[in-house]
Amino acid sequence: MIKEIQLRINLFEERKEDTLRYKASKKLDINIEEISAIKVLRKSIDARKKETIFNYKVAVYINESISEKQNYKFEYKDVSKCKEIHIIGFGPAGMYAALRCLELGYKPIVLERGKNVQDRRRDIRAINQEHIVNKDSNYCFGEGGAGTYSDGKLYTRSLKRGDVRRIFESLVFHGATEQILIDAHPHIGTNKLPKIIQKIRETIIKFGGKIHFNSRVIDFVISKNKLKAIRLENKQELNVNSVILATGHSARDIYNLLHKKNISIKAKSFAMGVRIEHPQQIIDQIQYNCNGERDSLLPAAAYSMVKQVNQRGVYSFCMCPGGFIVPAATDSEEVVVNGMSPSRRNNKFANSGIVVELDIDKDFKKYEEYGPLKGLEFQKDLEKISYYAGGRTQTAPAQRVTDFVEGNLSTNLNDCSYQPGLKSAPLHSLLPKIIGSRLRKGFKEFGRKMNGYYTEQANIVGVESRTSSPINIPRNINLEHINIKGLFPCGEGGGYAGGIVSAAMDGERCAEAAIKTLK
Ligand SMILES: Cc1cc2nc3c(=O)[nH]c(=O)nc-3n(C[C@H](O)[C@H](O)[C@H](O)COP(=O)(O)OP(=O)(O)OC[C@H]3O[C@@H](n4cnc5c(N)ncnc54)[C@H](O)[C@@H]3O)c2cc1C
Repeated sequence: MIKEIQLRINLFEERKEDTLRYKASKKLDINIEEISAIKVLRKSIDARKKETIFNYKVAVYINESISEKQNYKFEYKDVSKCKEIHIIGFGPAGMYAALRCLELGYKPIVLERGKNVQDRRRDIRAINQEHIVNKDSNYCFGEGGAGTYSDGKLYTRSLKRGDVRRIFESLVFHGATEQILIDAHPHIGTNKLPKIIQKIRETIIKFGGKIHFNSRVIDFVISKNKLKAIRLENKQELNVNSVILATGHSARDIYNLLHKKNISIKAKSFAMGVRIEHPQQIIDQIQYNCNGERDSLLPAAAYSMVKQVNQRGVYSFCMCPGGFIVPAATDSEEVVVNGMSPSRRNNKFANSGIVVELDIDKDFKKYEEYGPLKGLEFQKDLEKISYYAGGRTQTAPAQRVTDFVEGNLSTNLNDCSYQPGLKSAPLHSLLPKIIGSRLRKGFKEFGRKMNGYYTEQANIVGVESRTSSPINIPRNINLEHINIKGLFPCGEGGGYAGGIVSAAMDGERCAEAAIKTLK
């Protein structure tokens, strides 16, 4: 017999061997010897009260054996001679569109402007150490997309939109630890992601798909509202039937191309702000109610905050416990920051985006002349301000959060994980008022919610501008572009996802939709 039960375990019990079996036997009122095995189905930490509790959901095997290691199987077909689907972009959306093609018996042909994960690493190093940004190979572009050098946090709110579990199992199939199937807040870590992405590439190639790196798409050939061919920067022209456009939210050239060709795009609301970094110990002490170091059984603490300030949400975004702030620009004359963390989350800093929700209909009056590109132009201006304030390199402008709120230039800054370095700058006067004034109020409010959060030991670093796409590429109920047949806008760049998992799920859905039109 197998019984599923919930168990609450405190830190003292967590340390003890065989705690789960012991607690399960008590809860089920059975003899401990009757329990042949326990399988953890879910684990979360509740640190809201004085005593930290681990909440477990477990399957208790009573006088029944547990099958050995689970095998996550995917039925990939040999598609080498099958009909083709073209996929532009090899981020999570493009990768999962390609994998779905293999399952459904279609041949994915992927075109990716960047390099494979190994070669991409060199360009990442060049940004951090030499301040050189390669516009096709950086933290956003290249194999695995923006998800590769990320935290690999796998949270999504879009539970109804697809099968999250399928994506997780596929990640496990390609080398992720099974722990992601259990943790309430699963994450993979930037050190482990490249290997998983490489394995996904190997699967696609093994079953007959094609992946072309260094292949930036620069034009579409359209006739009678049907996409006929795509042109690459290397002058190649490929005839196409169905194209999944999964180029992510940083592919500004693609938005400009669509606009220039009168292919409908829409401006969309998004959020911008800064990244804040604290010593991890401060966040641990607040979240775990502890003094000094956190207990060794506890992971680096995270937080999530939101506050309405003058009719706009101010909220934490992509919080990275034990992580690093990274330079996420895609061109040389801009400074953009984001965050990532390794699987063990063992760096001494905790960083998070703190961003202000912007209303595309109300907040961009000065940018109306740009039509659907107005949010994007505003975003570009902010990144330029950041670039100039940082000293025209990838050095980022920064300020102690207390100085930012009080309107003082910081005479010196705290240590920071951001490798290209920081330059003290008056972000309180540089950021547009719609963002800056709300952030200033927001930080004070957050300090009230989390005692110790508002501290001179925290830096803010500018700018966190790429939270989601400032553009929506509209599609109909068949997921095809509203005007152009054969074009399937997909993932975060289309405005249909906001993270690795939701992008992957949208990739699967677009593959299914594109395939329907070929049948
Ligand atoms: C530093 C960082 C940390 C992040 N951390 C997390 C996290 O922990 N959890 C999470 O859920 N999300 C995180 N994100 C966001 C997440 O990475 C994105 O939401 C996700 O990658 C979007 O997937 P996508 O496939 O839609 O687009 P992308 O990942 O942006 O992929 C688009 C791909 O298209 C390619 N491309 C662009 N233009 C062209 C062209 N013209 N021709 C050919 N190819 C092109 C790009 O090179 C890129 O590989 C992070 C992002 C960054 C930058």
